[in-house]
Amino acid sequence: MIHTLQLRITPEEAYNDTLYLSVLSQQLAVDASRITGYRRIKESVDARNARQIRINSTVEVTLDEPPNLELYQPITWKSVEKAAHSVIIIGGGPAGLFAALRLLEKGIRPIIVERGKEVRSRRRDLALMNKSGIVNAESNYCFGEGGAGTYSDGKLYTRSSKRGNIQRILQLFHQFGAPDKILYQSHPHIGTNKLPQIITAMRLEIEAHGGVYLLEKKVTNLVAEGQHIKKVITHTGEMFEADAVIIATGHSARDIYTLFHDNHWLLEAKPFALGVRIEHPQSLIDSIQYHTPIRDPLLPPASYSLVEQVNTRGVFSFCMCPGGIIAPAATAQGELVVNGWSPSKRNNPYSNSGMVVQVGVSDAYQYFGSKSVDADDPLLLMRFQQAIEQKAFLVGSGNLIAPAQRMTDFVRKQPSTSLPVCSYIPGTQACDLDAILPNFIANTLREGCKLFGKKMKGYLTDAAIMVATESRTSSPVRIPRHPEKLTHPQLGNVYPCGEGAGYAGGIVSAAMDGESVANAIAERFGYPKK
Ligand SMILES: Cc1cc2nc3c(=O)[nH]c(=O)nc-3n(C[C@H](O)[C@H](O)[C@H](O)COP(=O)(O)OP(=O)(O)OC[C@H]3O[C@@H](n4cnc5c(N)ncnc54)[C@H](O)[C@@H]3O)c2cc1C
Repeated sequence: MIHTLQLRITPEEAYNDTLYLSVLSQQLAVDASRITGYRRIKESVDARNARQIRINSTVEVTLDEPPNLELYQPITWKSVEKAAHSVIIIGGGPAGLFAALRLLEKGIRPIIVERGKEVRSRRRDLALMNKSGIVNAESNYCFGEGGAGTYSDGKLYTRSSKRGNIQRILQLFHQFGAPDKILYQSHPHIGTNKLPQIITAMRLEIEAHGGVYLLEKKVTNLVAEGQHIKKVITHTGEMFEADAVIIATGHSARDIYTLFHDNHWLLEAKPFALGVRIEHPQSLIDSIQYHTPIRDPLLPPASYSLVEQVNTRGVFSFCMCPGGIIAPAATAQGELVVNGWSPSKRNNPYSNSGMVVQVGVSDAYQYFGSKSVDADDPLLLMRFQQAIEQKAFLVGSGNLIAPAQRMTDFVRKQPSTSLPVCSYIPGTQACDLDAILPNFIANTLREGCKLFGKKMKGYLTDAAIMVATESRTSSPVRIPRHPEKLTHPQLGNVYPCGEGAGYAGGIVSAAMDGESVANAIAERFGYPKK
Protein backbone atom coordinates (compact mmCIF):
# COMPACT_ATOMS: atom_id res chain seq x y z
CA MET A 1 0.00 0.00 0.00
CA ILE A 2 1.31 3.48 -0.87
CA HIS A 3 0.69 6.53 1.38
CA THR A 4 1.54 10.13 0.54
CA LEU A 5 2.59 12.25 3.53
CA GLN A 6 3.17 15.99 3.89
CA LEU A 7 5.81 16.54 6.57
CA ARG A 8 7.12 19.63 8.31
CA ILE A 9 10.23 18.49 10.09
CA THR A 10 13.59 19.65 11.46
CA PRO A 11 16.71 19.51 9.25
CA GLU A 12 18.01 16.65 11.45
CA GLU A 13 14.86 14.65 10.82
CA ALA A 14 14.97 15.42 7.10
CA TYR A 15 18.61 14.58 6.42
CA ASN A 16 19.27 11.67 8.81
CA ASP A 17 17.87 8.50 7.24
CA THR A 18 17.20 6.78 10.59
CA LEU A 19 15.38 9.80 11.99
CA TYR A 20 13.44 10.26 8.75
CA LEU A 21 12.29 6.65 8.85
CA SER A 22 11.14 7.01 12.43
CA VAL A 23 9.16 10.16 11.49
CA LEU A 24 7.46 8.16 8.73
CA SER A 25 6.57 5.30 11.05
CA GLN A 26 5.22 7.75 13.67
CA GLN A 27 3.14 9.62 11.12
CA LEU A 28 1.64 6.42 9.76
CA ALA A 29 1.41 4.85 13.23
CA VAL A 30 3.03 1.66 11.97
CA ASP A 31 6.15 -0.26 12.95
CA ALA A 32 9.16 0.88 10.88
CA SER A 33 9.68 -2.74 9.74
CA ARG A 34 6.50 -2.45 7.63
CA ILE A 35 8.01 0.40 5.57
CA THR A 36 9.50 -1.26 2.51
CA GLY A 37 10.50 1.95 0.74
CA TYR A 38 9.89 5.66 0.40
CA ARG A 39 10.36 8.25 -2.29
CA ARG A 40 10.71 12.00 -1.73
CA ILE A 41 8.41 13.90 -4.08
CA LYS A 42 8.98 17.53 -3.01
CA GLU A 43 11.29 19.27 -0.57
CA SER A 44 11.88 22.88 0.43
CA VAL A 45 13.54 24.78 3.28
CA ASP A 46 11.39 27.19 5.28
CA ALA A 47 13.71 29.64 7.09
CA ARG A 48 11.16 32.35 7.82
CA ASN A 49 11.18 31.68 11.55
CA ALA A 50 14.65 32.11 13.04
CA ARG A 51 14.20 29.62 15.87
CA GLN A 52 12.27 27.07 13.85
CA ILE A 53 13.86 26.34 10.50
CA ARG A 54 11.78 23.58 8.98
CA ILE A 55 11.95 21.31 5.97
CA ASN A 56 8.69 20.80 4.10
CA SER A 57 8.77 17.35 2.62
CA THR A 58 6.22 15.43 0.57
CA VAL A 59 6.96 11.72 0.52
CA GLU A 60 5.42 8.56 -0.90
CA VAL A 61 5.76 5.63 1.54
CA THR A 62 5.23 1.97 0.61
CA LEU A 63 4.04 -0.44 3.30
CA ASP A 64 4.15 -4.25 3.28
CA GLU A 65 4.84 -4.70 -0.44
CA PRO A 66 7.88 -4.38 -2.71
CA PRO A 67 8.38 -0.69 -3.47
CA ASN A 68 8.33 0.59 -7.01
CA LEU A 69 11.97 1.58 -7.48
CA GLU A 70 11.42 3.15 -10.90
CA LEU A 71 11.35 6.91 -10.36
CA TYR A 72 9.76 7.50 -13.76
CA GLN A 73 9.37 5.87 -17.15
CA PRO A 74 12.75 6.44 -18.87
CA ILE A 75 12.64 8.04 -22.30
CA THR A 76 13.90 5.96 -25.22
CA TRP A 77 15.13 7.04 -28.63
CA LYS A 78 14.78 5.69 -32.13
CA SER A 79 17.61 4.91 -34.49
CA VAL A 80 17.57 7.62 -37.14
CA GLU A 81 20.35 6.52 -39.50
CA LYS A 82 17.80 6.03 -42.26
CA ALA A 83 15.28 8.63 -41.15
CA ALA A 84 13.12 10.23 -43.80
CA HIS A 85 13.80 13.73 -42.46
CA SER A 86 16.78 15.54 -41.01
CA VAL A 87 17.01 18.86 -39.21
CA ILE A 88 20.05 21.11 -38.93
CA ILE A 89 20.39 22.55 -35.42
CA ILE A 90 22.77 25.48 -35.23
CA GLY A 91 24.09 25.57 -31.66
CA GLY A 92 24.53 22.68 -29.25
CA GLY A 93 23.45 24.33 -25.97
CA PRO A 94 20.47 23.18 -23.88
CA ALA A 95 17.97 24.37 -26.52
CA GLY A 96 19.80 22.57 -29.35
CA LEU A 97 20.47 19.43 -27.30
CA PHE A 98 16.91 19.01 -26.08
CA ALA A 99 15.56 19.74 -29.56
CA ALA A 100 17.87 17.00 -30.86
CA LEU A 101 16.78 14.49 -28.23
CA ARG A 102 13.11 15.19 -28.93
CA LEU A 103 13.66 14.82 -32.69
CA LEU A 104 15.36 11.46 -32.04
CA GLU A 105 12.36 10.38 -29.99
CA LYS A 106 10.15 11.17 -32.98
CA GLY A 107 12.44 9.40 -35.46
CA ILE A 108 13.87 12.52 -37.15
CA ARG A 109 17.62 12.88 -37.64
CA PRO A 110 19.18 15.85 -35.81
CA ILE A 111 22.43 17.32 -37.10
CA ILE A 112 23.89 19.73 -34.53
CA VAL A 113 26.46 22.19 -35.88
CA GLU A 114 28.36 23.75 -32.98
CA ARG A 115 31.12 26.38 -33.24
CA GLY A 116 32.92 25.51 -30.00
CA LYS A 117 35.05 22.64 -28.73
CA GLU A 118 34.16 19.48 -26.80
CA VAL A 119 33.98 19.84 -23.03
CA ARG A 120 37.53 18.80 -22.09
CA SER A 121 39.37 21.03 -24.58
CA ARG A 122 37.00 23.78 -23.63
CA ARG A 123 38.03 23.46 -19.99
CA ARG A 124 41.62 24.30 -21.02
CA ASP A 125 40.40 27.46 -22.76
CA LEU A 126 38.52 28.48 -19.62
CA ALA A 127 41.67 27.94 -17.55
CA LEU A 128 43.64 30.12 -19.99
CA MET A 129 41.03 32.83 -19.79
CA ASN A 130 41.11 32.80 -15.98
CA LYS A 131 44.92 32.71 -15.74
CA SER A 132 46.04 34.87 -18.65
CA GLY A 133 42.97 36.88 -19.59
CA ILE A 134 43.01 35.49 -23.13
CA VAL A 135 39.54 34.98 -24.61
CA ASN A 136 39.11 32.33 -27.28
CA ALA A 137 36.22 33.68 -29.36
CA GLU A 138 35.06 30.14 -30.21
CA SER A 139 35.62 28.34 -26.91
CA ASN A 140 34.63 30.03 -23.67
CA TYR A 141 31.93 30.02 -20.98
CA CYS A 142 29.25 30.59 -23.64
CA PHE A 143 30.50 28.69 -26.70
CA GLY A 144 31.31 24.99 -26.97
CA GLU A 145 29.75 21.57 -26.41
CA GLY A 146 26.58 22.06 -24.34
CA GLY A 147 26.63 25.84 -24.84
CA ALA A 148 26.48 28.18 -21.87
CA GLY A 149 24.81 25.38 -19.91
CA THR A 150 27.96 23.20 -19.59
CA TYR A 151 30.04 25.39 -17.28
CA SER A 152 27.02 27.17 -15.84
CA ASP A 153 25.94 26.96 -12.23
CA GLY A 154 23.34 24.36 -13.12
CA LYS A 155 20.39 25.74 -11.21
CA LEU A 156 17.45 23.96 -12.75
CA TYR A 157 14.51 26.09 -11.80
CA THR A 158 12.42 28.38 -13.88
CA ARG A 159 9.32 30.47 -13.57
CA SER A 160 8.32 29.62 -17.16
CA SER A 161 6.10 26.71 -16.16
CA LYS A 162 3.71 27.39 -19.06
CA ARG A 163 6.39 26.87 -21.68
CA GLY A 164 6.58 23.12 -21.34
CA ASN A 165 6.96 20.16 -19.06
CA ILE A 166 9.58 21.05 -16.42
CA GLN A 167 9.48 17.61 -14.80
CA ARG A 168 10.27 15.95 -18.14
CA ILE A 169 13.39 18.13 -18.50
CA LEU A 170 14.50 17.29 -14.96
CA GLN A 171 13.94 13.59 -15.63
CA LEU A 172 16.07 13.79 -18.74
CA PHE A 173 18.89 15.47 -16.79
CA HIS A 174 18.51 12.69 -14.22
CA GLN A 175 18.49 10.02 -16.90
CA PHE A 176 21.84 11.38 -18.13
CA GLY A 177 23.42 11.29 -14.67
CA ALA A 178 22.14 14.18 -12.49
CA PRO A 179 21.51 13.24 -8.84
CA ASP A 180 18.08 12.05 -7.56
CA LYS A 181 17.57 15.22 -5.51
CA ILE A 182 16.95 17.35 -8.61
CA LEU A 183 13.67 15.46 -9.00
CA TYR A 184 12.22 16.66 -5.69
CA GLN A 185 14.04 19.75 -4.41
CA SER A 186 12.22 23.05 -4.87
CA HIS A 187 15.45 24.66 -6.13
CA PRO A 188 17.31 21.88 -7.94
CA HIS A 189 21.01 22.47 -8.60
CA ILE A 190 23.60 20.32 -10.36
CA GLY A 191 26.84 22.32 -10.07
CA THR A 192 29.54 23.18 -12.57
CA ASN A 193 31.70 20.16 -11.71
CA LYS A 194 28.92 17.69 -12.57
CA LEU A 195 27.38 19.26 -15.68
CA PRO A 196 30.07 18.50 -18.29
CA GLN A 197 29.71 14.69 -17.92
CA ILE A 198 25.93 14.99 -18.26
CA ILE A 199 26.25 17.08 -21.41
CA THR A 200 28.73 14.64 -22.93
CA ALA A 201 26.40 11.73 -22.10
CA MET A 202 23.66 13.53 -24.04
CA ARG A 203 25.91 14.01 -27.06
CA LEU A 204 26.99 10.35 -27.02
CA GLU A 205 23.35 9.22 -26.85
CA ILE A 206 22.45 11.42 -29.82
CA GLU A 207 25.39 10.00 -31.79
CA ALA A 208 24.63 6.40 -30.75
CA HIS A 209 21.18 6.70 -32.33
CA GLY A 210 22.43 8.07 -35.62
CA GLY A 211 22.17 11.77 -34.82
CA VAL A 212 25.15 14.01 -35.53
CA TYR A 213 26.89 16.50 -33.22
CA LEU A 214 29.59 18.38 -35.11
CA LEU A 215 32.09 20.45 -33.11
CA GLU A 216 34.31 23.36 -34.13
CA LYS A 217 32.03 24.23 -37.05
CA LYS A 218 30.90 27.82 -36.95
CA VAL A 219 27.93 28.64 -39.15
CA THR A 220 28.83 31.74 -41.14
CA ASN A 221 26.18 31.83 -43.83
CA LEU A 222 22.61 30.77 -44.55
CA VAL A 223 21.59 30.62 -48.18
CA ALA A 224 17.94 31.33 -48.88
CA GLU A 225 15.90 30.35 -51.89
CA GLY A 226 12.60 32.15 -51.81
CA GLN A 227 11.01 31.65 -48.39
CA HIS A 228 13.33 28.83 -47.30
CA ILE A 229 16.89 28.33 -46.15
CA LYS A 230 18.38 25.82 -48.54
CA LYS A 231 21.99 25.71 -47.37
CA VAL A 232 23.80 26.14 -44.08
CA ILE A 233 27.47 26.98 -44.56
CA THR A 234 30.27 26.78 -42.01
CA HIS A 235 33.54 28.71 -41.67
CA THR A 236 35.39 25.78 -43.26
CA GLY A 237 33.14 25.98 -46.31
CA GLU A 238 31.16 22.85 -45.48
CA MET A 239 27.61 22.96 -46.69
CA PHE A 240 24.52 21.25 -45.25
CA GLU A 241 21.10 20.89 -46.74
CA ALA A 242 18.15 20.08 -44.53
CA ASP A 243 14.40 20.00 -44.36
CA ALA A 244 14.35 22.44 -41.46
CA VAL A 245 16.86 24.62 -39.59
CA ILE A 246 16.75 25.39 -35.87
CA ILE A 247 18.61 28.53 -34.79
CA ALA A 248 19.67 27.80 -31.20
CA THR A 249 22.78 29.96 -31.05
CA GLY A 250 22.35 31.55 -27.62
CA HIS A 251 22.42 35.19 -26.54
CA SER A 252 26.09 35.79 -27.35
CA ALA A 253 26.09 34.88 -31.05
CA ARG A 254 26.26 38.46 -32.27
CA ASP A 255 27.44 37.28 -35.69
CA ILE A 256 24.16 35.37 -36.20
CA TYR A 257 22.08 38.46 -35.39
CA THR A 258 24.27 40.44 -37.79
CA LEU A 259 23.80 37.78 -40.48
CA PHE A 260 20.02 38.08 -40.13
CA HIS A 261 20.22 41.87 -40.15
CA ASP A 262 22.44 41.96 -43.24
CA ASN A 263 19.95 39.73 -45.08
CA HIS A 264 17.03 41.95 -44.04
CA TRP A 265 15.41 39.04 -42.18
CA LEU A 266 13.18 40.22 -39.37
CA LEU A 267 14.67 40.85 -35.94
CA GLU A 268 13.42 42.88 -32.97
CA ALA A 269 15.28 44.68 -30.21
CA LYS A 270 14.43 42.99 -26.92
CA PRO A 271 14.63 44.72 -23.52
CA PHE A 272 17.13 43.02 -21.21
CA ALA A 273 18.95 43.85 -17.97
CA LEU A 274 22.47 45.02 -17.20
CA GLY A 275 24.44 45.78 -14.07
CA VAL A 276 27.11 44.15 -11.94
CA ARG A 277 27.82 40.95 -10.07
CA ILE A 278 27.86 41.43 -6.33
CA GLU A 279 29.77 39.18 -3.95
CA HIS A 280 29.40 38.80 -0.17
CA PRO A 281 31.02 36.38 2.24
CA GLN A 282 28.73 33.32 2.24
CA SER A 283 28.80 33.30 6.06
CA LEU A 284 27.22 36.77 6.03
CA ILE A 285 24.37 35.70 3.73
CA ASP A 286 23.88 32.56 5.85
CA SER A 287 23.65 34.62 9.03
CA ILE A 288 21.11 36.99 7.47
CA GLN A 289 18.93 34.29 5.94
CA TYR A 290 19.12 31.73 8.76
CA HIS A 291 19.13 34.37 11.55
CA THR A 292 22.01 32.72 13.34
CA PRO A 293 25.75 33.54 13.47
CA ILE A 294 26.75 30.09 12.19
CA ARG A 295 24.84 27.99 9.66
CA ASP A 296 23.64 24.56 10.75
CA PRO A 297 25.86 22.31 8.56
CA LEU A 298 22.73 20.33 7.65
CA LEU A 299 21.32 23.36 5.87
CA PRO A 300 22.41 24.40 2.37
CA PRO A 301 24.38 27.64 1.93
CA ALA A 302 21.71 30.32 1.94
CA SER A 303 20.54 32.12 -1.17
CA TYR A 304 18.37 35.15 -1.80
CA SER A 305 16.20 36.67 -4.47
CA LEU A 306 15.66 40.42 -4.41
CA VAL A 307 13.56 42.66 -6.56
CA GLU A 308 12.51 46.32 -6.31
CA GLN A 309 11.06 49.06 -8.47
CA VAL A 310 12.96 52.35 -8.44
CA ASN A 311 11.02 55.10 -10.23
CA THR A 312 9.17 52.45 -12.27
CA ARG A 313 12.42 50.76 -13.31
CA GLY A 314 13.09 47.23 -12.12
CA VAL A 315 16.29 46.32 -10.25
CA PHE A 316 16.76 42.73 -9.23
CA SER A 317 19.16 40.00 -8.22
CA PHE A 318 19.87 37.47 -10.95
CA CYS A 319 21.36 33.96 -11.09
CA MET A 320 22.40 33.86 -7.44
CA CYS A 321 25.23 31.42 -6.71
CA PRO A 322 25.65 30.48 -3.03
CA GLY A 323 29.13 29.07 -2.35
CA GLY A 324 30.16 30.07 -5.84
CA ILE A 325 32.71 32.10 -7.74
CA ILE A 326 32.54 34.94 -10.24
CA ALA A 327 33.70 33.91 -13.71
CA PRO A 328 34.78 35.78 -16.86
CA ALA A 329 32.07 35.21 -19.48
CA ALA A 330 33.18 37.36 -22.43
CA THR A 331 33.05 35.87 -25.93
CA ALA A 332 35.52 38.22 -27.60
CA GLN A 333 38.74 39.96 -26.68
CA GLY A 334 38.23 43.56 -25.58
CA GLU A 335 34.98 42.96 -23.66
CA LEU A 336 34.47 42.46 -19.96
CA VAL A 337 31.55 40.27 -18.94
CA VAL A 338 31.10 38.44 -15.65
CA ASN A 339 28.78 35.67 -14.55
CA GLY A 340 28.75 33.18 -11.66
CA TRP A 341 28.82 29.46 -10.94
CA SER A 342 29.21 27.10 -8.03
CA PRO A 343 30.26 23.48 -7.58
CA SER A 344 27.67 20.88 -6.55
CA LYS A 345 28.70 21.23 -2.88
CA ARG A 346 28.46 25.01 -3.04
CA ASN A 347 31.41 25.08 -0.68
CA ASN A 348 33.28 28.24 -1.66
CA PRO A 349 33.35 30.94 1.02
CA TYR A 350 31.66 33.45 -1.30
CA SER A 351 28.13 34.14 -2.38
CA ASN A 352 27.60 36.00 -5.64
CA SER A 353 24.65 37.22 -7.64
CA GLY A 354 23.93 39.43 -10.60
CA MET A 355 22.37 42.73 -9.59
CA VAL A 356 20.87 44.24 -12.68
CA VAL A 357 18.61 46.98 -13.98
CA GLN A 358 16.05 46.80 -16.78
CA VAL A 359 17.14 48.42 -20.04
CA GLY A 360 14.80 49.37 -22.89
CA VAL A 361 15.26 50.65 -26.43
CA SER A 362 14.74 54.29 -25.45
CA ASP A 363 17.59 53.99 -22.90
CA ALA A 364 20.01 52.82 -25.57
CA TYR A 365 18.78 55.51 -27.94
CA GLN A 366 19.45 58.21 -25.35
CA TYR A 367 22.78 56.67 -24.39
CA PHE A 368 24.18 56.90 -27.91
CA GLY A 369 22.54 60.23 -28.65
CA SER A 370 19.67 60.32 -31.11
CA LYS A 371 21.83 61.65 -33.96
CA SER A 372 24.27 58.76 -34.03
CA VAL A 373 21.83 55.82 -34.05
CA ASP A 374 18.58 54.72 -35.58
CA ALA A 375 15.79 54.13 -33.03
CA ASP A 376 14.41 51.34 -35.24
CA ASP A 377 17.69 49.45 -35.40
CA PRO A 378 16.86 45.96 -34.05
CA LEU A 379 20.48 45.61 -32.94
CA LEU A 380 20.46 48.82 -30.90
CA LEU A 381 20.34 47.08 -27.52
CA MET A 382 23.02 44.62 -28.61
CA ARG A 383 25.25 47.55 -29.55
CA PHE A 384 24.53 49.17 -26.19
CA GLN A 385 25.41 45.94 -24.35
CA GLN A 386 28.67 45.62 -26.29
CA ALA A 387 29.59 49.28 -25.74
CA ILE A 388 29.33 48.92 -21.95
CA GLU A 389 31.31 45.66 -22.00
CA GLN A 390 34.08 47.33 -24.03
CA LYS A 391 34.16 50.32 -21.70
CA ALA A 392 34.48 48.01 -18.69
CA PHE A 393 37.37 46.19 -20.39
CA LEU A 394 39.25 49.45 -20.91
CA VAL A 395 38.60 50.76 -17.39
CA GLY A 396 39.74 47.41 -16.03
CA SER A 397 43.05 48.00 -17.86
CA GLY A 398 42.78 44.93 -20.04
CA ASN A 399 43.47 41.24 -19.55
CA LEU A 400 40.03 40.69 -18.01
CA ILE A 401 40.96 42.46 -14.77
CA ALA A 402 37.50 43.53 -13.68
CA PRO A 403 36.61 47.03 -12.53
CA ALA A 404 35.11 46.78 -9.06
CA GLN A 405 33.96 48.89 -6.15
CA ARG A 406 33.12 48.28 -2.53
CA MET A 407 29.32 48.22 -2.21
CA THR A 408 29.21 50.94 0.47
CA ASP A 409 31.55 53.19 -1.56
CA PHE A 410 29.37 52.75 -4.63
CA VAL A 411 26.29 53.74 -2.63
CA ARG A 412 28.10 56.78 -1.15
CA LYS A 413 29.49 57.67 -4.60
CA GLN A 414 33.06 57.63 -3.34
CA PRO A 415 36.08 55.80 -4.78
CA SER A 416 37.25 52.62 -3.07
CA THR A 417 40.76 52.78 -1.66
CA SER A 418 40.79 49.03 -1.13
CA LEU A 419 38.63 46.10 -2.20
CA PRO A 420 37.35 43.03 -0.36
CA VAL A 421 38.95 39.72 -1.37
CA CYS A 422 37.05 38.44 -4.40
CA SER A 423 36.65 35.00 -6.00
CA TYR A 424 37.15 36.35 -9.54
CA ILE A 425 40.41 34.71 -10.61
CA PRO A 426 41.68 37.20 -13.28
CA GLY A 427 41.64 39.88 -10.55
CA THR A 428 39.80 43.08 -9.73
CA GLN A 429 40.81 46.72 -9.84
CA ALA A 430 39.27 49.48 -7.74
CA CYS A 431 37.37 51.92 -9.91
CA ASP A 432 34.38 54.18 -9.95
CA LEU A 433 31.57 52.08 -11.44
CA ASP A 434 29.85 55.31 -12.43
CA ALA A 435 32.58 55.70 -15.04
CA ILE A 436 31.29 52.54 -16.77
CA LEU A 437 27.58 52.32 -16.10
CA PRO A 438 25.22 54.87 -17.62
CA ASN A 439 23.59 57.13 -15.02
CA PHE A 440 20.18 55.50 -15.19
CA ILE A 441 21.73 52.12 -14.36
CA ALA A 442 24.15 53.34 -11.68
CA ASN A 443 21.52 55.44 -9.90
CA THR A 444 18.90 52.66 -9.99
CA LEU A 445 21.45 50.18 -8.68
CA ARG A 446 22.38 52.57 -5.86
CA GLU A 447 18.77 52.95 -4.77
CA GLY A 448 18.32 49.19 -5.16
CA CYS A 449 21.29 48.55 -2.83
CA LYS A 450 19.70 50.76 -0.17
CA LEU A 451 16.32 49.05 -0.47
CA PHE A 452 17.86 45.57 -0.46
CA GLY A 453 19.84 46.57 2.64
CA LYS A 454 16.55 47.33 4.38
CA LYS A 455 14.97 44.06 3.27
CA MET A 456 17.99 41.97 4.29
CA LYS A 457 19.65 43.61 7.30
CA GLY A 458 23.41 43.45 6.80
CA TYR A 459 23.27 43.02 3.01
CA LEU A 460 24.44 46.61 2.40
CA THR A 461 27.95 46.22 3.77
CA ASP A 462 31.56 47.19 3.14
CA ALA A 463 32.34 43.46 3.01
CA ALA A 464 30.59 43.25 -0.38
CA ILE A 465 32.21 43.93 -3.75
CA MET A 466 30.46 44.92 -6.98
CA VAL A 467 32.14 43.73 -10.19
CA ALA A 468 31.41 45.01 -13.71
CA THR A 469 29.70 43.96 -15.91
CA GLU A 470 26.81 41.54 -15.65
CA SER A 471 25.51 42.11 -19.15
CA ARG A 472 24.55 38.74 -20.68
CA THR A 473 21.40 38.32 -18.61
CA SER A 474 19.23 37.49 -21.60
CA SER A 475 19.19 38.24 -25.29
CA PRO A 476 19.04 41.91 -26.34
CA VAL A 477 17.52 40.75 -29.65
CA ARG A 478 14.49 38.61 -30.49
CA ILE A 479 14.20 36.57 -33.67
CA PRO A 480 10.45 36.65 -34.24
CA ARG A 481 8.46 33.53 -34.97
CA HIS A 482 4.90 32.45 -35.73
CA PRO A 483 3.13 31.79 -32.38
CA GLU A 484 1.97 28.27 -33.32
CA LYS A 485 4.13 27.08 -36.21
CA LEU A 486 7.23 28.54 -34.45
CA THR A 487 8.77 29.44 -37.81
CA HIS A 488 10.39 32.74 -38.72
CA PRO A 489 7.86 35.03 -40.48
CA GLN A 490 9.97 35.25 -43.66
CA LEU A 491 11.74 31.89 -43.60
CA GLY A 492 9.23 29.07 -43.48
CA ASN A 493 11.68 26.29 -42.56
CA VAL A 494 13.65 28.25 -39.94
CA TYR A 495 12.82 27.77 -36.25
CA PRO A 496 14.31 30.41 -33.90
CA CYS A 497 14.81 28.69 -30.56
CA GLY A 498 16.05 29.11 -27.00
CA GLU A 499 17.63 32.03 -25.22
CA GLY A 500 19.32 33.62 -28.22
CA ALA A 501 16.07 33.86 -30.13
CA GLY A 502 14.43 35.44 -27.08
CA TYR A 503 12.24 32.51 -25.97
CA ALA A 504 14.06 31.32 -22.87
CA GLY A 505 16.01 32.62 -19.91
CA GLY A 506 17.94 29.73 -18.45
CA ILE A 507 18.76 26.08 -18.90
CA VAL A 508 15.33 24.57 -18.25
CA SER A 509 13.36 27.10 -20.27
CA ALA A 510 15.85 26.78 -23.16
CA ALA A 511 15.50 22.99 -23.00
CA MET A 512 11.70 23.24 -22.99
CA ASP A 513 11.81 25.59 -25.95
CA GLY A 514 14.05 23.11 -27.79
CA GLU A 515 11.41 20.45 -27.24
CA SER A 516 8.59 22.76 -28.39
CA VAL A 517 10.38 23.57 -31.62
CA ALA A 518 11.14 19.88 -32.26
CA ASN A 519 7.45 19.08 -31.68
CA ALA A 520 6.43 21.80 -34.16
CA ILE A 521 8.81 20.39 -36.78
CA ALA A 522 7.59 16.83 -36.23
CA GLU A 523 3.99 17.98 -36.58
CA ARG A 524 4.81 19.75 -39.81
CA PHE A 525 6.41 16.58 -41.20
CA GLY A 526 3.31 14.62 -40.19
CA TYR A 527 4.76 12.56 -37.32
CA PRO A 528 2.30 11.45 -34.60
CA LYS A 529 1.84 14.01 -31.81
CA LYS A 530 2.87 11.81 -28.89
C1 LIG B 1 28.58 31.09 -16.00
C2 LIG B 1 27.12 30.87 -16.31
C3 LIG B 1 26.28 30.41 -15.31
C4 LIG B 1 24.92 30.17 -15.59
N1 LIG B 1 24.14 29.62 -14.61
C5 LIG B 1 22.87 29.25 -14.90
C6 LIG B 1 22.08 28.56 -13.95
O1 LIG B 1 22.50 28.26 -12.85
N2 LIG B 1 20.81 28.21 -14.32
C7 LIG B 1 20.28 28.52 -15.53
O2 LIG B 1 19.12 28.18 -15.79
N3 LIG B 1 21.02 29.17 -16.45
C8 LIG B 1 22.30 29.53 -16.18
N4 LIG B 1 23.07 30.16 -17.13
C9 LIG B 1 22.43 30.50 -18.40
C10 LIG B 1 22.24 29.25 -19.28
O3 LIG B 1 23.46 28.62 -19.46
C11 LIG B 1 21.61 29.68 -20.59
O4 LIG B 1 20.38 30.30 -20.32
C12 LIG B 1 21.36 28.48 -21.51
O5 LIG B 1 22.54 27.78 -21.73
C13 LIG B 1 20.76 28.95 -22.84
O6 LIG B 1 20.63 27.85 -23.68
P1 LIG B 1 20.61 27.97 -25.28
O7 LIG B 1 20.75 26.60 -25.78
O8 LIG B 1 19.45 28.78 -25.68
O9 LIG B 1 21.92 28.80 -25.65
P2 LIG B 1 23.47 28.53 -25.32
O10 LIG B 1 23.62 27.66 -24.14
O11 LIG B 1 24.09 29.87 -25.28
O12 LIG B 1 23.98 27.71 -26.57
C14 LIG B 1 24.16 28.29 -27.83
C15 LIG B 1 25.21 27.50 -28.57
O13 LIG B 1 25.23 27.96 -29.92
C16 LIG B 1 26.57 27.94 -30.36
N5 LIG B 1 26.71 28.88 -31.49
C17 LIG B 1 26.58 30.23 -31.47
N6 LIG B 1 26.78 30.73 -32.69
C18 LIG B 1 27.02 29.70 -33.51
C19 LIG B 1 27.33 29.60 -34.88
N7 LIG B 1 27.41 30.68 -35.67
N8 LIG B 1 27.57 28.37 -35.40
C20 LIG B 1 27.51 27.24 -34.62
N9 LIG B 1 27.22 27.30 -33.30
C21 LIG B 1 26.98 28.51 -32.76
C22 LIG B 1 27.36 28.38 -29.15
O14 LIG B 1 28.71 27.98 -29.25
C23 LIG B 1 26.61 27.68 -28.04
O15 LIG B 1 27.17 26.42 -27.75
C24 LIG B 1 24.41 30.42 -16.89
C25 LIG B 1 25.26 30.89 -17.90
C26 LIG B 1 26.60 31.11 -17.62
C27 LIG B 1 27.51 31.60 -18.71
